[in-house]
Amino acid sequence: MQQKKEKWYEMLIKLEIDTENIKRNLEKIKEINQNVICVLKDDAYGLGIESILPVLINEGCSYFATAYIGEALKIKNIVKRDFPDKVGKISVMVLNYIEENELKKAVKNGIEITIFNFEQLEKYVRVLKNEERIKVHIKFNTGMNRLGFDEKETEKLIEKIKVIPNIDIMSIYSHISDVGNEKETEKQIARYERIVSIFDKNEVKYGVKHIQASPLLFKYKGKYNYDFARVGMAIYGMEPLSEKTELYPVVKLSSKIINIRKLSKGEKVSYGSHGILKENKTVGVIPVGYAHGLQKQTENSGAYVLVNGKKAKILGEVCMDMIIVDVTEIPEVKIGSEAVITGKQGNEEITLLQMAEWAGTIQDDILTKWNKGIKRILV
Ligand SMILES: *Cc1c(COP(=O)(O)O)cnc(C)c1O
Repeated sequence: MQQKKEKWYEMLIKLEIDTENIKRNLEKIKEINQNVICVLKDDAYGLGIESILPVLINEGCSYFATAYIGEALKIKNIVKRDFPDKVGKISVMVLNYIEENELKKAVKNGIEITIFNFEQLEKYVRVLKNEERIKVHIKFNTGMNRLGFDEKETEKLIEKIKVIPNIDIMSIYSHISDVGNEKETEKQIARYERIVSIFDKNEVKYGVKHIQASPLLFKYKGKYNYDFARVGMAIYGMEPLSEKTELYPVVKLSSKIINIRKLSKGEKVSYGSHGILKENKTVGVIPVGYAHGLQKQTENSGAYVLVNGKKAKILGEVCMDMIIVDVTEIPEVKIGSEAVITGKQGNEEITLLQMAEWAGTIQDDILTKWNKGIKRILV
C-alpha cells in the first residue's frame, strides 16, 4: 500500500517562492559569468527540486549539480516527464559521494560523477569497467581540505587516468574555502592554475574548468571567470558575502495568529521562567516552532515576526510547534492575522541574513532546515 504523504500543517504554514526574483538573481549572476552550473544540492537548498528545476530550465539553464545520485535521477526524470525536447541537452553532475552499488545506475542515466581520491577512482573504474563511457569531474583540493586530490598528486593521477579506456574528463574543478581572506583565496587559485597547467603539459584532454561559487563570483566579479560558475545560494536570494548586495529575496515563510491573550505584568509566557513579562501585554500564538525549522536559538536574540506590517517580538522559549509573540502595539490584530517569519510584509522585511544572525548561524542553514512538510508554493 502506498503511504499517503502526511500534510499535517499544510494549511498553517506556507513557504512561498518568488519565481520572478529567481529569474532576476539569475540575470545578476549571468552578468558576471554567462555559464552557470545551477547547484540544486540538498533538494535545491531545501526549496524543492520539483519547484525550482522548471523555473531554471525555462530560463535556459541546462547544467545542474546535486549532492546525491537520487537528486540527479530526479532531475533526469522531471526532464523526461515535463521537458521531453530537452532530453539529452541537460547535464547533471553529482558533487558528493556515490555508493558503489549505485554507480552503474548513475552512468546508465548519463549522470556525471565526481572523483576526489585514489581509492574511489580505483573502485569506480573496477565497477564501471564494462560501461561505455564514464563522465567524471575531477575535484582538486586547493585548501578546503574536504574532498579532492592534492596538487602533489596530480602527476600520479594523470598516469592512472591515461590508461583508463572509457573515461571522459568533463571538468577539473576546485572549491574556495574562505573568500573573505583574499590572500588565502589567491593562493588557492594559484594552486588550481598550477594543477590545470600540469594537465595541459601532459596533454590530457578535459572538458571545462570551474572554481567560482556564489561568494567568489560576487566578491571578485569576473576576475576568476573560468568556463563555468557553480552557483547555489545567489539563485535563492541568499547574500553570498553575508552583507546586503543587489540580489532579490526569494522566500517568504508565513503563518497566522491562532490565539490572542491579554496578560499582566509579572505573568509569564512559554516554558521555563525566561518569559516573565515586565509590563502588561497582549500576546499572540503562531503555530510555527523548531520542528518546522524555526531554530530554537532564535529565542532571546531580539527576534521578531511581522504582523500587520509591524514587528512582533518573540517572547520566551520557541516551542516545538508554536511561538508566542508580543502584539500589544499592533492595531487590529486578530485571530487569523498573517504572521511573516521570513520575508516582506508591508514596509517591513525579515531577511534570511537577519534570521541567520538571530540563530547564530548562516543563511543556508536556515533555508535547508525548513521542514519538508511545509508546502512550497511558487508565486
Ligand atoms: C555548495 C557548493 C557550491 C555552490 O555554492 P554557493 O555558495 O551556494 O553558490 C559550489 N560548489 C561546490 C563544490 C559546493 O559544494
